[in-house]
Amino acid sequence: MTAYDYDLFVIGGGSGGVRSARVAASLGKRVAITEEYRYGGTCVIRGCVPKKLFVYASQFPEHFEDAEGYGWSVGERSFDWKKLIAAKDKEITRLEGLYRKGLDNAKADIFDSRAELVDAHTVKLTKTGETFTAERIVIAVGGTPNEHKALPGHELTISSNEAFHLEELPKSILIAGGGYIAVEFANIFHGLGVETTLIYRGKEILSRFDHDMRKGLHEAMEAKGIKILLGDIIEEVTKGEGTLQARTKNNGTLAVETVMLALGRDPSTKGLGLENAGVKVDARGAIIVDDYSRTNVPHIFALGDVTDRVQLTPVAIHEAMCFIETEYKNNPTKPDHELIATAVFSQPEIGTVGLSEEEAGRKYPELEVYRAQFRPMKATLSGRQEKTIMKLIVNAADRKVVGAHILGHEAGEMAQLLGITLKAGCTKDDFDRTMAVHPTAAEELVTMYSPSYRVVNGERV
Ligand SMILES: Cc1cc2nc3c(=O)[nH]c(=O)nc-3n(C[C@H](O)[C@H](O)[C@H](O)COP(=O)(O)OP(=O)(O)OC[C@H]3O[C@@H](n4cnc5c(N)ncnc54)[C@H](O)[C@@H]3O)c2cc1C
Repeated sequence: MTAYDYDLFVIGGGSGGVRSARVAASLGKRVAITEEYRYGGTCVIRGCVPKKLFVYASQFPEHFEDAEGYGWSVGERSFDWKKLIAAKDKEITRLEGLYRKGLDNAKADIFDSRAELVDAHTVKLTKTGETFTAERIVIAVGGTPNEHKALPGHELTISSNEAFHLEELPKSILIAGGGYIAVEFANIFHGLGVETTLIYRGKEILSRFDHDMRKGLHEAMEAKGIKILLGDIIEEVTKGEGTLQARTKNNGTLAVETVMLALGRDPSTKGLGLENAGVKVDARGAIIVDDYSRTNVPHIFALGDVTDRVQLTPVAIHEAMCFIETEYKNNPTKPDHELIATAVFSQPEIGTVGLSEEEAGRKYPELEVYRAQFRPMKATLSGRQEKTIMKLIVNAADRKVVGAHILGHEAGEMAQLLGITLKAGCTKDDFDRTMAVHPTAAEELVTMYSPSYRVVNGERV
């Protein structure tokens, strides 16, 4: 029996925190976890899950239109935002219950309070003032939307948090940002019938993605009617008559009902008492950790978004599992952040794994780029003007596929499977000797026989 109240105290009941607490408790450790808002964290409560439900909702208008090309007559349609919110909330509550149940079944003590560190082994629950000591502490407090307080009128804007609970669906929205959250919400709101404008200071949306994906999605979004303003920022937001006035640097003043900022996320480390425990953070407030998610205080770990490594749910969960292996299974395991498959749930979707053409061009002297662009089969009868783009980036020296990128329907699903092939180190020859599944869009990935072009020393030839 140790002198501590718990073997492990976890702060934050999101993706990383719940996984660490549940698995440690199931191994017989004495575990406590506390959450200040709702169990499930960003992903379940106001991130991936409700977002994907909104994506589905926003796709129906196109489904109805497409149906006509296949002989269906779709009658009068209407959309009820409040009904969607209520259905979404019900599902989120169900999932939250499952998270709690998992912790409860594993016999973790569950608290509903904000927590602060009192010292390197003591956690205080701010709701009751109770303090508990623990041999190890995991900090998995995630992040919050950057409020952009320097923007005059920022208090009139919303973030993704509020977007999930708007009383009414606005008639028009201006979304600032060029990352995946901004892009996804632009597609969601547009699909639900909102007049949507995206404003981004960069030269093209989705800065770290392959250029073909960025350009292809940009064109597809504009073709649908989403306005995209690049190289521009909002300088001030004021209240107009029944609208907001967003003064931009280069595009005049836009009158919109709602302004949403999606300008990155900040680690939730303010007021956490890290200084009391001597835990170091970087200039952005992210907790600094080593390869094993260990902070500079050897028994305090930090994982997930609060460490600002890769802000994705499966990464937070993976880091939690590595923590368990390292600390409770005597099997030191570093999280593997290489070749993370990911998706942008835009319409069309982007699915991607590995290096973009630009990144690969900087890393390898010679690349073979296989690229296919085609109209998806479903669009033939529906008459929808849309294209699918698929791209494989191959290192010419050893024929390894180092990047795979898809713009099109179900690209996220395909990226998951491509992730396995890239992780396994498959070469283009492995792709070539794989039988196609016909008729699918994905068959294109195994039937692109000759390179579309080569990239030598970063230059396309
Ligand atoms: C709109 C949106 C869409 C997203 N979509 C995707 C997606 O499609 N796919 C994907 O992989 N990722 C997506 N993400 C990212 C994903 O949600 C995060 O990477 C993931 O939730 C990180 O998990 P975490 O455990 O680090 O933190 P979180 O899930 O954020 O959990 C941290 C928890 O700690 C709590 N907390 C904070 N401070 C304290 C405190 N002092 N005391 C007690 N509790 C505290 C918070 O309330 C929160 O519940 C999305 C994020 C957003 C915002």
